[in-house]
Amino acid sequence: MLEDRDRIFTNLYGYQPWNLKAAQARGDWDDTKAILAKGQDAIIEEIKASGLRGRGGAGFPTGMKWSFMPKEPPKDRAGNPRPSFLVINADESEPGSCKDREIIRHDPHKLVEGALVAGFAMRARAAYIYIRGEYIREAETLAAAVQEAYDAGLIGKNASGSGYDFDVFVHRGAGAYICGEETAMIESLEGKKGQPRLKPPFPAGAGLYGCPTTVNNVESIAVAPTIMRRGASWFASFGRDKNHGTKLFQISGHVEKPCVVEEAMSIPFRELIEKHCGGIRGGWDNLLAVIPGGSSVPLVPAAEIMDAPMDFDGLKDLKSGLGTAAVIVMDKSTDIVRAISRLSYFYKHESCGQCTPCREGTGWMWRVMERLREGEANVEEIDMLHQVTKQVEGHTICALGDAAAWPIQGLIRHFRPELERRIAERHGVREAAE
Ligand code: SF4
Repeated sequence: MLEDRDRIFTNLYGYQPWNLKAAQARGDWDDTKAILAKGQDAIIEEIKASGLRGRGGAGFPTGMKWSFMPKEPPKDRAGNPRPSFLVINADESEPGSCKDREIIRHDPHKLVEGALVAGFAMRARAAYIYIRGEYIREAETLAAAVQEAYDAGLIGKNASGSGYDFDVFVHRGAGAYICGEETAMIESLEGKKGQPRLKPPFPAGAGLYGCPTTVNNVESIAVAPTIMRRGASWFASFGRDKNHGTKLFQISGHVEKPCVVEEAMSIPFRELIEKHCGGIRGGWDNLLAVIPGGSSVPLVPAAEIMDAPMDFDGLKDLKSGLGTAAVIVMDKSTDIVRAISRLSYFYKHESCGQCTPCREGTGWMWRVMERLREGEANVEEIDMLHQVTKQVEGHTICALGDAAAWPIQGLIRHFRPELERRIAERHGVREAAE
């Protein structure tokens, strides 16, 4: 259980102003120069030792990701050094996810300072914060916070008196979910249509404008200065092996009090909901299922998730995932088939159409899901749908194909009797009418 003194995001609910003066009073930008003076390698080693894993969904070790960036700048054909870049993913379009919005709304200086610390560690010349187009007010707040940091000499030339030059740019997206994928985001930043690139090459080798680039989630970057101040062992003391630190959970759906809250990684699901959300609407017996990590991960039925640790490995053991820790709670009033079908429609709509299994498969899966919702399909189509999800999964350029397949697989795995019941009921009605 996390004590208040161990919370990183001390202004998550906006009880205090977000501005620089208030942020400094909360401890942000406190002798950032001393952090940078430790040197790039020491910062990366500290982040590695903290056990921080990417908070955008993939859970890749953050320090290791930073270490992939070149120590010596690569040269262009004329022999001139090429810059490296940090891209911060604030696109946050995953259904259920809203934590980055709260950071940017109420604690933007954590992100701006984190951009400097992370960017310096990976020897980046600048950070581009790619913010979701719909986050209009948040983009304004973030741009104002960046300007405050420039005006105070915290970023820009000789950032924070470190002798290091570092710029931060805020770039607004235009409403495409796929631009949250790192290479589509890079394409979009370059002014092109936001479509994922084939990998390799990976962004650390050839990213933004063909230069070495690391793409990190807002939360991963915003926690870095606090880790540097309080130490890797402090951060690693929360959670359990390979699942360390504190984490922002975004709990929505059929709980008494939906919220965004910072908690220790690995907190059991029941404790998370009891402590921060006032329990399940109608009581625990009324819980049907939970999507624990945003719409891209498979649902978990009530009986399995109750005591599960909310972390990367605990949810993987349940054939689901922590994702962005967007916890979508569904009680027994939920039409679970309709809910998953609606997600299928989302992925069909957001497919960039570049690769055939995703472009054709997402539409096909959604149409069959609609037939199942109505009970119009045949029982054999359940297996056929499952086979198609397997043909989409892992056979596409980016992970959107997987994201479209997994929720359906979870539905079939756990709620097949419900699908069959609908079909039998519909057929029974038809036969009775004939
Ligand atoms: Fe585009 Fe879908 Fe292929 Fe990703 S998987 S590149 S979204 S078509």
